[in-house]
Amino acid sequence: MRTLIAANWKMHGDMSWATKPTDFDALLPAKDRLSIDILICPPLPFVAALSGNAKAANVFVGGQNCHAQISGAHTGEVSAKMLVSAGADYVIVGHSERRAAGETDADVRLKAAAAQNAGLVPIICVGEALEVRETGGAEEHVGAQLSASMPEDTQNIVVAYEPIWAIGTGKVASVSDISDMHAFIRAAVGPNVRILYGGSVKPVNAKDILNTENVNGALIGGASLEMESLAEISKAAL
Ligand code: PEP
Repeated sequence: MRTLIAANWKMHGDMSWATKPTDFDALLPAKDRLSIDILICPPLPFVAALSGNAKAANVFVGGQNCHAQISGAHTGEVSAKMLVSAGADYVIVGHSERRAAGETDADVRLKAAAAQNAGLVPIICVGEALEVRETGGAEEHVGAQLSASMPEDTQNIVVAYEPIWAIGTGKVASVSDISDMHAFIRAAVGPNVRILYGGSVKPVNAKDILNTENVNGALIGGASLEMESLAEISKAAL
């Protein structure tokens, strides 16, 4: 199974960042990373501009969200098909920052299916809040999220386990907690689905996390904004 190193730029950057795949390729040339896939998910306005440089650098491009429908009267939204036409290969769905703004499991499932229908690979995010973990309910919560968020066809999906309390906080789940949760998710999704860990992944902790059983890559926010640190994390996967 190929490791996926996925950068989530969230709402950061500007059009000049479209050349970052080229910068990344200079730091870690494609010939030196044959066993891993690199993905950058920039803010929507930069997807098309970035995708040309990304293809040349053997880097995949993704959206950070999509609508469940192909087109229609949905001001401010973007469809999976539009992302494809802008050069995207993947799309993140159900990120906890979007779930916190009201996105439900049912929404996530529809978005994931729409992504598949358009030819995108959905990265379906799940993860528990701190109080859920502290009261021993993490697996039950993630299991329920998974079964309600995954599309019927689980062929071409990626799942990202992102404990909410570890996102952007500098707090990382312990290797043993990651190992336990990823084993639990593996049992639910089967052997062929890539399971990413996300939550304050940095060059300093990447090797331990990426070497954990059933961890098939990482979804990275803050540490993905600088290509030097994205390249260091990627090297830890080689
Ligand atoms: C994320 O937003 O998906 C994420 C994991 O962020 P960070 O790496 O900054 O914790």
